[in-house]
Amino acid sequence: MIGPAAKSGRLRINEIFLSLQGEADAVGYPTVFVRLTGCPLRCQYCDTEYAFHHGDWLDLDAIVDKVRGLGAHHVCVTGGEPLAQPNCLRLLERLCDAGLQVSLETSGALDIAGVDSRVSRVVDVKTPGSREAARNRIENFSGLNPRDQLKFVICSREDYDWSKAFLQEHALTERCRILFSPSYTEVSPTALADWILADRLPVRFQIQLHKVLWGDVPGK
Ligand code: SF4
Repeated sequence: MIGPAAKSGRLRINEIFLSLQGEADAVGYPTVFVRLTGCPLRCQYCDTEYAFHHGDWLDLDAIVDKVRGLGAHHVCVTGGEPLAQPNCLRLLERLCDAGLQVSLETSGALDIAGVDSRVSRVVDVKTPGSREAARNRIENFSGLNPRDQLKFVICSREDYDWSKAFLQEHALTERCRILFSPSYTEVSPTALADWILADRLPVRFQIQLHKVLWGDVPGK
């Protein structure tokens, strides 16, 4: 059954703001972030809990207009878990149609198959340290392509070893690009960099640029 939000083409939006992209392929580019309200997961390190419940209903035209009005070429649809709202797929299409470089940040717990092929998908793999590893949707892996990125947030040495084994078990480095990030405050970035180097692991190390620049504040 189609709910009222789907019929009217609306989404519940927590915030829309301009910042620098802090992660993944488009790191460093001025980017408009569209943060959708709500997430079915509860990762222990979540830094966007403020997006779980609060937001305003906006129609797709208003969202696209606001994004264009902020004037950046890149736009990132994030959350929460943006795919938890079915109209997110229509928003992604509309943003691509507007000629923008569109990326999607998703938890990896929901089906990504319906995402417009023009979108750069950044998909989490939840490690045991997140306490949500049981939510990883393994079926997503077969549809990954070289434009996609899988992101592991590493919370400990145990998480690192688990992630390394998980990469091998699912042959993930052959499917798409892999990002390893240290969990902010839980793992030293230097330690993670040293582990990757010692193992010659074919993954891309990253730190969250926006947190280096502005700390852990909403809207940045
Ligand atoms: S999936 Fe993302 S938004 Fe949801 S709880 Fe985990 S870190 Fe937070």
